[in-house]
This record gives sequence, structure tokens and C-alpha cells, in this order.
Amino acid sequence: MTYTNNRLHTHILGYPRIGSNRQLKFALEAYWKGESSLHDLIQTAKTIKQEGWEKQRNAQISIVSTNDFSFYDHVLDAICLIGAVPSRFKRGNGPISLDLLFTMARGMEKASLAEANTMPHPMEMTKWFDTNYHYIVPEFEKDQHFSLGSSKPFEEFKEAKYLGYLSKPILLGPISLLFLGKKKDPSIKNAELFEKILPIYEEILKEFYSLGADWIEFDEPILTLDIPTEWQKAFYDVYPRLKQKVPALKILLATYFGPLKENREIVVSIPIDGLHYDWTRGGQELYGLLQNWDKNKVFSLGIVDGRNIWKNDFSKSLKVIHSALDYIPSESLWLAPSCSLHFVPVSLQTEKKLNEELRACLAFADEKLEELNILSRLALMENYQHDELFKENQKAIEKRKTSSLIHDPTVHERLAALKETDLSRKSPYRVRKELQQKKLQLPLFPTTTIGSFPQTTEIRRIRSRFRLGSISQEAYETFIEEEIKRVVELQEEIGLDVLVHGEFERTDMVEYFGEKLNGFLITENGWVQSYGSRCVKPPIIFGDVSRKEAMTIRWSKFAQSLTKKPMKGMLTGPITILQWSFARDDQPRKITAKQIALAIREEVKELEKNGIGVIQIDEPALREALPLRKIDWEDYLQWAIESFRIASCCVEDSTQIHTHMCYSEFGDILEAIAKLDADVISLEASRSGFELINSFAKFRYPNDIGLGVWDIHSPRIPTTEEMLATLRKALSALPKESLWVNPDCGLKTRSYQEVIPSLKNMVEAARILRNEVTSKASAEPTMAESP
Ligand code: GLN
Ligand code: ZN
Repeated sequence: MTYTNNRLHTHILGYPRIGSNRQLKFALEAYWKGESSLHDLIQTAKTIKQEGWEKQRNAQISIVSTNDFSFYDHVLDAICLIGAVPSRFKRGNGPISLDLLFTMARGMEKASLAEANTMPHPMEMTKWFDTNYHYIVPEFEKDQHFSLGSSKPFEEFKEAKYLGYLSKPILLGPISLLFLGKKKDPSIKNAELFEKILPIYEEILKEFYSLGADWIEFDEPILTLDIPTEWQKAFYDVYPRLKQKVPALKILLATYFGPLKENREIVVSIPIDGLHYDWTRGGQELYGLLQNWDKNKVFSLGIVDGRNIWKNDFSKSLKVIHSALDYIPSESLWLAPSCSLHFVPVSLQTEKKLNEELRACLAFADEKLEELNILSRLALMENYQHDELFKENQKAIEKRKTSSLIHDPTVHERLAALKETDLSRKSPYRVRKELQQKKLQLPLFPTTTIGSFPQTTEIRRIRSRFRLGSISQEAYETFIEEEIKRVVELQEEIGLDVLVHGEFERTDMVEYFGEKLNGFLITENGWVQSYGSRCVKPPIIFGDVSRKEAMTIRWSKFAQSLTKKPMKGMLTGPITILQWSFARDDQPRKITAKQIALAIREEVKELEKNGIGVIQIDEPALREALPLRKIDWEDYLQWAIESFRIASCCVEDSTQIHTHMCYSEFGDILEAIAKLDADVISLEASRSGFELINSFAKFRYPNDIGLGVWDIHSPRIPTTEEMLATLRKALSALPKESLWVNPDCGLKTRSYQEVIPSLKNMVEAARILRNEVTSKASAEPTMAESP
């Protein structure tokens, strides 16, 4: 790296890997379907990588990064690098092939049903820290053997070198890699794993050194978590050993997603050559850290937010950079995004329909590279205030503060006008339950579903044709009505008690509301990777949120008109909408959440007015939005609960509010869930079922609960007997009057061949249980008769 002293050094922690038009997604899917060759896939990857490097060069980034690309997931790459292939996949000798990597992630493709039971199940996947990206969870087995299993990082380094780039390879650090993994046997000791894994990391360092690398980046994001002492100690043990092996190769330790707090001591003590620090999440802690910083070591300041899409405020950033320069010399200060850029879309250039005023507020990955470029130059300029690009930036920042597109004082007034009583139901649950029962006349163990019914290719086709304008509004609405009619009839035939309309009008439970609310922007091409080839397009919440029109009334009302049974209105809750969008950074998240809640509240009221007596407000993201550090949980839970109550506590006692949560374990937040005061909550329980039931045995949940007795993430059709078994077990921890029966999530990814028999079995299980319980009750002496 050459140093020119009129600008600061810059680097990034990763560039988006899906390609500017999701090329990787399409290449992967074509390859998996057998429609293209491995060669084609590798070619697409090459082009994506080259484009990224070129863009970094054009933005004068001082050192480009490699090994940030991945065919599927960077944690899976790290698993393969150390050769930690679970034994059920039968690795064989030699390097791990791309096909084996895909099998580890996805299971066997095209296995016949008969084979399905004997095929190795894919590795588990979970969310990466507090992002919406999913990684493959490492597995460590008894007598785990590690060996260098892939040469991907070296190949990428050479690929870049061949094109004239001396790069900085990025690797997941050994401690985070082990910490994020799951030990499959309780007898496995961490120390033992470290002893085995270290020689491989040493080998990697040696190889990079011999390839001519100057720097290597180790990501250790677990330093921003509450980690046990044993793991803190591991840093003092592992890094000296790595450093000692290849002293000449410089190590940049990268942390992100939060402040270091008690782990600060670690990063100033261990022998590394540089630290990357996430200023956007670390805040004031920075200065304490800089005070103790060795001036000869690099300090990489994560000044451009990698988790959001807002334009950087140069004036604010330059103040921070200048204060940092009070502590350390300019040669030691590098500028960077806070974390990898793969959490943001690639470029604003492909957004053709964007309002110009809003465009001026935004920065996707490519624009963030440019921001680094400019900041690195302005930072060492005497009169940066006179620089044209600085002035332009400040104009946009100022405009955003006052824009009438963004700011709507009436929303703030309405929020301020909410009274304490608006946040609670009129009567306590006991009273409500009686009134609701009188109105709904539900049997014991009522059966229902979570909302969506299968989204067939035909539905998707019609919806997208309607979007493109190739079919009329009228034809589209008739089509949706027909679909609703079909599932209402189906549900009656199966004998469900509380029906749903099927959600055929929705592509996505957040985007649907984002499109209809004021303050939201839906991009054309703002895709980010979710996992593997799956991408999501989070809406951007740019302004004060309000409800401009009815969002669900038309379909719910129509559906209710078809049946005498109660029809559930279906809404997405404020926390989930916030969590799965890019949120504003110019006001606290809690304010945005409450604004969304207020808009949902209006929809709830109107549903009730239109005769919908059961309304479900889904909050699948409530648990995953918990802050990374436990100390911050209480504050979050408080505003999350308040938001849910703003959305739901506006109905009559006789109207029944449901909520649904999934994707996580709830044992540790049951008390908070109870405070939502929903009349009925449906939770995922089929996979972690027994654990959840045990938690209920410890904490007496006051309202009704629906246990997900069918794991809809699997193509298996559950039998009546197994669902009965789960329900009987649930009755040991829950009173019979509060138990509902339902699948564990929406049915949109399943097929009707699976849905119809499964629901029939489920309804049958509820019927049998009802008989069991009532015949037992009539056999027992009543209170009056007993002595
Ligand atoms: N109502 C939604 C559905 O059934 C809930 C989805 C979810 O929990 N993620 O699809
Ligand atoms: Zn769900």
C-alpha cells in the first residue's frame, strides 16, 4: 500500500456479493436446477468480484478486500476452510467441493420421498447478530478433526493479484467461529477445539505471507456481545500465538455491531497491528479507546454506516475524524464503513423511479465507497468547508432536516395526544374472555391457521402481471376474490373454527404495508442477501409514518361475507415492520415504531367497525429485534410492548386480538409477551415444543395460547397422533380453557397436497382431545357432589 499524505487510508470490510442485478442468485439457481454448468457459475462469481474490486479502485480505496465474496455464506466458507464438515455428509479425502458445500447448506436436492428420511439433514441456519442475514451454524462433534479444507481465500487473493490488486483477505476470526458454533456433544471442551483449530489458522497465515499479503483481517464481532470470561481469555491466548507464528503479516482485528464495553481491555492488550472499530454503534466509547491506543498501530474508524442506507453527514463525520486525529497520527488512522457493505443494496444507479429529493438522502454500497473517498480527502484539508462536494453533501443533509416529504407535524401531534388509557384494553382479560366467548361461541381447543395459504405459481404470476399493468384492476380483484372463496370453503370443509382469507394479495408481509403507508419507499432493485440465493428488498422508512388509506379492509370484509364463522383480520405488527425495513436514523427507532403502531391502530379500528371480530397482529420479529447486550433489553421491550399496545388496545372488549411469533425461542421473554396483553398468542412449538411447554410450566401465562403443533417448514405431513401427543403434553402445563390448536407459521410456502391432509389431521387431533377432556370431566364428581 502506498501512502500519499494528502488523504487518509481507506478500506472496506466486504462488498455485496449478490451482484448489482442479483446475478449470483440467478446463477446459483440455474446451477442447482442443472440448467447451467459449474463453469458458468464460477464465471459469474468472477465477474461480480472483479466489478467490486474495480469499484473500490475507482473510489480510491487504499486496499481492496478479498474473500468477502461467497457462493453461499461466509460462515459456511469458514467452516469449510477448517474442514469442519459434519460426519453425516461423508466428506471423503481432498478439498471440499462446491457441491458438498451446497449440500451442507441445503440438504440433498431432488431426493425422492422414500429417500428423504435417510438423507443427511442440512446444517442449521440462524440470524447473524442483529441483522436479517442468516448464516450456517458451525457444528462440532466429538473427536472433531480439522484440516485445511478449501483454498478459496488463497484463490481469491491470487485472482485479485493477477488483476493488479494487492488485497487484504478477510477471514472470520477463530474465536468468533468457535463461539458461534454448536457443540454436538457436551463432553467437548473449548480448549480442545482451540488446540485443534489453531494450527490451521497458522497454516493460513503462512500461506498468505508466502503469497505476498501485507495485511489480513480477522473479524471477531463477538467482542460486541456479553461473552463469558472463558471466551475473553481465549483472545489473550490465541492472538499472541497467531502473531508469533508469522510476525511479519499484519493482523487487523475487526469488531462491529456495538460498543466493546468490558472487552475494550482485550483489544488494547493483544498483539495485533490494527483494530477496526464500529463508530456508528460505539459512540462516546471511542475516545477512551483512542486514549490508550498505541500510535504505531492502525486504528480503522468505521464512520460510514454499513447497516443503513442514509447519506453520511460529512460535517458530523469530519468532527469525529478530527478528534481521532488529536490522539493518533494520520498515518495510523484508516477510514471504513462500520461493517461489511453486504447489508445494503449495491447501487442507487439502478433506481430509475426514485424521487430526486429522497435520492439525495440515500447512499447504497457504491455511494458509500464514494463517501469514503471524499471523506478521506476532506479529512486532511485545511478549508474543507469550501469544497464543492462538502457543500453539496451539507445541502442534502440540511434539506432532509426540514423536507415536507419527510416531516409531518400532525403525526407527532397524534402520537403526543395518546393517553395512558389508550394503551390498555377497557377491561382485564378475564372479563374480555367471557364477552368474546359469548360472541364467538368457540369450542374447547379452537382450531385456526396463522394467515397465509399456499402461494401457488399462478397467484404469483397474476400478481406480477397486475403490477406490470398487463391485467386490469377488475380482473385482478376477481381473481383474488375467487382464491379467497376457495380457501374459505376449504377451511369450512376441514372444520376449522376461526378462518382466514389466505393473504393472496400480499407478496410479503412487510412490503404490502410499506406500499400502503405514508413515509415508506419501496425500491426497484434494493436487494440484499438473506441467505444463499435468497434476497430481500427491505422497504425504506424515510419519513413520518401515517395511514393514507384502508389497507386490508376490502379483503377481510369480503372474506367474512362468505362465512358465518369468525374471519380473522390479518395485520403485520409495528416491530416487525420496523425490523424488516431500513429505518430512519434521524429519530429514535422507538418513535418510528410508535408511528407505525398508530397507523396499524387505525386499521384495527376500521376492521372492527366493518364487522371483523378477531384481529391478528403478527410480530414474528419481536424476539429477534432484542438488542445484542442484555443490559439494553428492558428499554427495548418496554417500547416494543407499548407499540404493540398502541396498535391493539383500541377495540371493544368483545373483539379478540391475536398475535403470532415464530423463528425463535421465547422462554426468556415470556413475561414481556404477556404484557402485550393479546387475547390469544400463537407460538412456534413443534420443533422446540417441549422446551416451550416447560417454560409455561414455570411462568403462568395469563391469556390464551395457540401451540404450533405442525412444523410447516418441513414437507412432512404430521399425523393426528403426534399432534395429539404434543397437545396432551401442553395440557400438563396449561389450563384446558386457554389452549388453541394451530400450525406453527403461515402456510404460504407449502403446497395444498401437504396443507389439506395436515389440517384435517390437526382438526381431528383437537376433536379427539375435546372428547377426552369432556368425558373425563363428566366422569369426575362435580364440586357440589364432592364431600
Ligand atoms: N400471517 C403471516 C402468514 O401467515 C405470518 C408470517 C410469519 O409469521 N412470518 O404468512
Ligand atoms: Zn410465523
